[in-house]
Amino acid sequence: MSIYSKIKRLLLIFYPAKCINCGEVIENKNPFCENCSKKFPPTRRLRYIEVNNKKIKCISAFHYGDKIREAICDFKFRDRKNYAGFFAASISEVLLPEDEVKKFNYITSVPLSKQRYKERGYNQAELVAKDLCERIDIEYNEILEKIKDNKTQHTLNLEERKVNVKGVYATSKRFDLRGKNVIICDDIITTGNTLSECVKMLMDSGCENILCLTTADAS
Ligand SMILES: [Zn+2]
Repeated sequence: MSIYSKIKRLLLIFYPAKCINCGEVIENKNPFCENCSKKFPPTRRLRYIEVNNKKIKCISAFHYGDKIREAICDFKFRDRKNYAGFFAASISEVLLPEDEVKKFNYITSVPLSKQRYKERGYNQAELVAKDLCERIDIEYNEILEKIKDNKTQHTLNLEERKVNVKGVYATSKRFDLRGKNVIICDDIITTGNTLSECVKMLMDSGCENILCLTTADAS
């Protein structure tokens, strides 16, 4: 972790957590106070990403906008790791019986590069997935690896984004994924290129069914 992150972490101890919406001082495990939580309830958002001519379901708990965007940014960049439980609970709330979550063997997350992980000190998608695995009773495993550094997706245009994720991820050799059903967790789905590439890697390793779960959908 960089000195800058350490200082930031220290400062957070002295600055009380506040509700992102109204500013009320609250416990720092939730971005909103009790009242404001009701104004930003999780709402199921469903879309499909197409990989190898197969439609893969992607479910999100929020639209990526307004205060949710702020909460996610705080979670990712301002060390609000404690929000993981809030986001995981929100995702589990929008899952339906038709999603057949129980049939999945593993839950995993979209990995960060080693460099980014070092800088941030944690992978936000991993924290949510690890909290979620207990709520939906599915084993968490680090199945995906980031084998190449790439640019941050949001700095690129649509065409560049597609190219930017190619060959960046791989599945870990520690798992025999043939015939397995895997859930991939990420924080935001925008164009879906990152998740598509991860799904492709899982398919190439023999995964049978794949489901994507994200905190927010930016479309
Ligand atoms: Zn509030």
